Amino acid sequence: MRIGVLGAGQLGRMLALAGYPLANTFVFYDISGSPSVGLGEVIVDRGGEYLNDFLSRVDRVTYEFEHLPVSIAERIADVKPVHPTPRSLQVCQNREAEKTLFGELGIATPKWKIADSAESLRQAAEELGCPVVAKSNTEGYDGKGQAILRSPEEALEAWTVINHPRLMVEKFVDFSREVSIIGVRGADGDVAVYPIAENIHHNGILRYSLAPAPSVSKTVAAEAKRYLHAIMNELDYVGVLALELFDTADGLVANEMAPRVHNSGHWTIEGAQTSQFENHIRAITGQPLGDTTARGVSCMVNIIGEHGDISRILELPYTHVHLYDKAERPGRKLGHINVTAEHYDELIWRVRNCASFLPGVPEFRCSLAKG
Ligand code: AMP
Repeated sequence: MRIGVLGAGQLGRMLALAGYPLANTFVFYDISGSPSVGLGEVIVDRGGEYLNDFLSRVDRVTYEFEHLPVSIAERIADVKPVHPTPRSLQVCQNREAEKTLFGELGIATPKWKIADSAESLRQAAEELGCPVVAKSNTEGYDGKGQAILRSPEEALEAWTVINHPRLMVEKFVDFSREVSIIGVRGADGDVAVYPIAENIHHNGILRYSLAPAPSVSKTVAAEAKRYLHAIMNELDYVGVLALELFDTADGLVANEMAPRVHNSGHWTIEGAQTSQFENHIRAITGQPLGDTTARGVSCMVNIIGEHGDISRILELPYTHVHLYDKAERPGRKLGHINVTAEHYDELIWRVRNCASFLPGVPEFRCSLAKG
């Protein structure tokens, strides 16, 4: 099958790497002007002139990034099958729509309010009770376009700094850790869910994902699964969906979701029976879903900004290096390393050893190893 992918970054690259063995080919549609996929055919279209050309070369379309106009996805859906649905894209692009949907589906969220002026931000902060997190309602990612308000008096400054006409204002959640759950739904409605991953961020960027997350009770795991099923069924979803959650004393609280393969699912390449990338391809091409069971325990370490000593890391027998063929730049995702092990103790020292060859990586701390 000829698969068209909207976006042409590392997620597209890994989708193609998983899709070629199943005899698929790939055409990427890039509106950024700087594709980094490095595989398949790439159509760079900053002016929107080549969409029909792109569509004439593919059998169906999916996305690897969600910050593209929904109108493009809708135009495409008139001509070719698009997975997931444009509605999924629309909901994921808009924090208000996303949190409203969560509420309708009985999925716990932080208490929230919308602000459309500095004064309404101040009011929201007062009513919710500080601290609160203010986020641009659209276009935010990796913690960008956000501010924490420790008192309502900080509203004017936060409003000016974020500089966005509409803000999602959330009560600050007192969480013990951040986790995510990734699932895949086939065209026939079949759903498969990966074990929950524990995610460690630094300056808003994901640095480590440990999977399966340790000490997840059966109740919590069942709750997370229920959330995913509810969202995917409601959106008539086909493909991989990622849901980011806060783990709190009162259970899981949903933060946001992504209508695509996700950085916190990269561990599945070597850490699960079937990777998230292969399962996305299987789903959108109408094939049976693959087994989502974990193989031992694993941890993904992101390579950010600088590559570090990759040769030394390649010498370690328990690492799997994935490079995105991108130039070094502060804060840029250049690749990741999957570290695999039989049990957590072994995994923790392996991750720390691997990280010692990566410059600027924060020390590995997780719910099992705090210091
Ligand atoms: P987001 O862009 O919504 O994923 O937010 C980026 C990061 O900010 C999250 O990974 C959390 O670490 C933190 N954060 C976001 N919302 C909240 C919240 N309501 N309470 C506490 N921390 C939050």
